[in-house]
Amino acid sequence: MIIAVDGTAASGKGTLAKRLADHFHLAHLDTGGLYRAVALRVLRLPFPADEALTHAASEASQLTHDDLNHADLRLETTSAMASRVASIPAVRQALLAYQQDFAANPPNHASGAVLDGRDIGTIILPNADIKFYCDAEIEIRAQRRHKELISRGETATYADILAGIAARDNRDMNRPVAPLKPAEDAIRINTGKYAIDQMVEQAMTYIVSPE
Ligand code: C5P
Repeated sequence: MIIAVDGTAASGKGTLAKRLADHFHLAHLDTGGLYRAVALRVLRLPFPADEALTHAASEASQLTHDDLNHADLRLETTSAMASRVASIPAVRQALLAYQQDFAANPPNHASGAVLDGRDIGTIILPNADIKFYCDAEIEIRAQRRHKELISRGETATYADILAGIAARDNRDMNRPVAPLKPAEDAIRINTGKYAIDQMVEQAMTYIVSPE
């Protein structure tokens, strides 16, 4: 079983993907983590941002296991740079095969995979068995992300988080290559309406008893 979960920034898609993977014993890949890992490598290059970005595709082709587990992946500065590197076609190309291989040959002999991101149902896995598209009002997403960051001990204002999410959505939806949009056959979930358990239950009804 291959499940694609796409959605806007801080929409809860990662949580949904992880819960579905745990429930059905599937492998899970947070594809945003790949772009975040590239972003961290780019941020560490000893060049000004614009010049560093010209090296992003080469950095993408050299990702290691350690890059994917770096403690700074979830920082807001990383998020912002991730959506910049993600708009570079050569970066997307460098990460394509890894994502498709993960779904075709899931680790640990899992019987399938759940991938979450922005272009999973549209570009990476157009033949996925089931596709979800998560979204919620931007204010709700910003409130949730703000709470999460504060609970992790990061200092961030609600206004900055809101602005950061708006900028990322805008960049992700309007880039020429693999823009964020629901696949035609995606099931849309308004994650703002639900607590996590309800959101997962709702999604599960489509998998256990598809119409
Ligand atoms: O999902 P997450 O917020 O971690 O993703 C970080 C950034 O990576 C997104 O803002 C987006 O620009 C990019 N991304 C993407 N395609 C994916 C997953 C993430 O362009 N499949």
